[in-house]
Amino acid sequence: MTGLKKTIIRGGLETLYFSAAHHLMRPFVGGAGVILTLHHVRPPRPDRFQPNRLLEVTPDFLEDVLRSLRRSRADLVSLDEMYRRLTAGKVGRRFVCMTIDDGYRDTLQWAYPILKKYDVPFTVYIPTSFPDRLGELWWLALEAVVARNKGIRLLIDGKDRSFECATVEDKRHLFEELYGWVRSFKTEEELRTVVRDLAARYQVDVTAFCEELCMSWDELAKLAADPLVTIGAHTVNHVMLAKVPERAARAEMEMSRSVIEAALGTRPEHLSYPVGDPTSAGPREFRIAADLGFKTGVTTRPGVIFPEHREHLMALPRVSLNGEHQQLRYVHVLVSGAATAVWNGFRRVNAA
Ligand SMILES: [Zn+2]
Repeated sequence: MTGLKKTIIRGGLETLYFSAAHHLMRPFVGGAGVILTLHHVRPPRPDRFQPNRLLEVTPDFLEDVLRSLRRSRADLVSLDEMYRRLTAGKVGRRFVCMTIDDGYRDTLQWAYPILKKYDVPFTVYIPTSFPDRLGELWWLALEAVVARNKGIRLLIDGKDRSFECATVEDKRHLFEELYGWVRSFKTEEELRTVVRDLAARYQVDVTAFCEELCMSWDELAKLAADPLVTIGAHTVNHVMLAKVPERAARAEMEMSRSVIEAALGTRPEHLSYPVGDPTSAGPREFRIAADLGFKTGVTTRPGVIFPEHREHLMALPRVSLNGEHQQLRYVHVLVSGAATAVWNGFRRVNAA
């Protein structure tokens, strides 16, 4: 994301907060509830180059958020309870669902004790190749290549090009360029090939991140044993489903459910589409997820849940607790639905 866009988003959140507009807008934009998204929860690190920092919040911040939600009049509920309310047509008090994607070890180490302390139900979405230690956390491989080198060479459109990345500023800039470039590919295969080549050339072990950062099946079993925890599917290989052929997309969703059921003894009924933006999950994926019988499918499209979403249970929006905006006042604005209403032009459902 560009600095300008960040400033606009933060500026927008500030404006909504200080104008108290989010309180006035609440009856119109607040909807039935909200699904919050987390990735990493861990103490801050000192490194100046952390291009993936938006995917992490600190344990203290999570605790502030949960304390504040517990004091609010919202119900903190599981996805099953949200599903029950939406399909029953009686949504009741406003609800908040907590979800955590990817199954990082810090979910168990840092997030779980805090969620437990506040007795908050939550869902963890697992790409099964991560506990199987075969997954490619390609965005971290890209970060490592840029972090560990002063310059890199790359074949782009058949031309050998070189990029300087000696300073933190250069690294941030180059990462943003590379990330945008690989995300613009039409297929997942192209993205993986480029990142694998780059990682091999600069001695970054792509699969090592699984062992280092992700929960094992034993660790997942500990979490899954707690009735507060729902285990959800997040495909096998964490692929952008819309960028693979239909058969592969279906297999990714179906296989991940079977693998989790075999490993943990519970069959996941809820799905999170990896990456989850419109380039990664669209109508085709929503249809397949419904075919496979999932109860809900969550995207990363920003938004709160309205009663109308009962007709779009495979295309639910979420609100991400973003590491770049770790202030409670932003969370109030986001949870109120005001920020995402502005984002979405006051359109309630976006399942196209
Ligand atoms: Zn993910």
